[in-house]
Amino acid sequence: MNQQTNIRSTADYQAMDAAHHWHPFSDMADLNRKGSRVISSAQGVWLTDTDGNRFIDGMSGLWCVNVGYGREEIVEAVARQLRDLPYYNTFFQCTHPAAAEFAEALANVAPPQMNRVFFTNSGSESNDTVFRLARVYWDCLGKPSKKIFIGRKNGYHGSTATATSMGGMAAMHGQSGLPFNGFAHIDQPYWYGEGRPEGLSPEEFGKLRAKQLEAKIDELGEENVCAFIAEPIQGAGGVIIPPESYWPEIQRICNEREILLITDEVICGFGRTGSWWGAETYGVTPDLMPIAKGMTSGYQPMGGVFISDKVAGPVMEKAGEFYHGYTYSGHPAACAAGLASLRILQEEKLVERVRDVLAPRMAKLWAGLADHPLVGETRTRGFLGAIELVKNKETGERFDGDLGVGGMARDLSVGKHGLVMRAVGDTMIASPPYVMTEEELDEMAARARATLDDLADKLTREGRL
Ligand SMILES: *Cc1c(COP(=O)(O)O)cnc(C)c1O
Repeated sequence: MNQQTNIRSTADYQAMDAAHHWHPFSDMADLNRKGSRVISSAQGVWLTDTDGNRFIDGMSGLWCVNVGYGREEIVEAVARQLRDLPYYNTFFQCTHPAAAEFAEALANVAPPQMNRVFFTNSGSESNDTVFRLARVYWDCLGKPSKKIFIGRKNGYHGSTATATSMGGMAAMHGQSGLPFNGFAHIDQPYWYGEGRPEGLSPEEFGKLRAKQLEAKIDELGEENVCAFIAEPIQGAGGVIIPPESYWPEIQRICNEREILLITDEVICGFGRTGSWWGAETYGVTPDLMPIAKGMTSGYQPMGGVFISDKVAGPVMEKAGEFYHGYTYSGHPAACAAGLASLRILQEEKLVERVRDVLAPRMAKLWAGLADHPLVGETRTRGFLGAIELVKNKETGERFDGDLGVGGMARDLSVGKHGLVMRAVGDTMIASPPYVMTEEELDEMAARARATLDDLADKLTREGRL
């Protein structure tokens, strides 16, 4: 426990927090009644709270701490950078060594068609940049009517007003009257949730869902459509892994139609799916790629947009100044953290580790959980996993949504078994750090099973099963 940053009692921190700290994506009245968990230190894949409890972090923070906690190389790189140059802007004909070096290092690992990166501070900002840049691109090609973005229901692209509009989260749209005009959404390739009840095979279903893009382009008029944006694997929506038929069909449509393809790599990027980019895993060629979470492994806030030569060319030639940027675009400390994190990924061959060691082991362990009476399906891809909780294993019947079974499982997991997993409705999801040992991964699966057993006991006791 870090005595410097943890000098008061848990109750003190909770009281200060409840009085003054408004949390993201939280029901504040409910949260303040319960009190926040106060996480004060971490090492490797282990979190510690102010009461000394330890947890396996099955979510890498919020999908970001890919190289694990306590990496002195990153801490040192950031400290060194702050001493040399804590801040300078990258606006007025200026750069600095960290921004130039990080941009080059990123271009070296980017897909071949991507040679440039625009720096932002988050995934949400990255998608605002995507929105502006894609529209400017079509203006430069003399096609200013191409303005509409097509996204997907239950897709997540961030929480600014533009990113919320691009995404397809109904609850978010319901608040504040979004999406803005200029956004359309097609259905998601969620076979277990939406295709299986209709009796479709995953491959049939994937193709049908992809074809909705073609129909939507026709409906809106190709001359009005700017781009299609999608996560290679939906993260916040519940680790929804598309059937293998899905992405090739999307790529075919994007090849045949004149629209930009944007893969939101904020979660899938930097090795999460077992190759550097989700687009690589699924064999697609995007025109723009927003990135963020794994970019610095969470050691500094940062995001960015990879820009393909196809988009960069006309914009550089015709647009003149692109009137867009953030004060902290290319912040020196964030670039230093990103560079150090990237070096760790490369030197420790962590992307290969995900592909060759962690992904196969997680696939096996998660498949092993599928025999549990409460589990309708498990699925994994790379180092991402999901567990579908159901009332009836045979029919796939769900629990009453008001019961909050996913939330119960999450609370049991963290409160009783020291494992942080996240619940999306009744889907339990995991996205652990790439430095997790095989023993720790086995331990994580054992804790997940113990959680499921406890949940079954609790539901039986309450007469819900
Ligand atoms: C988290 C996320 C974002 C938003 O990133 P922030 O840094 O929270 O703004 C965008 N896209 C995807 C796919 C994400 O998972």
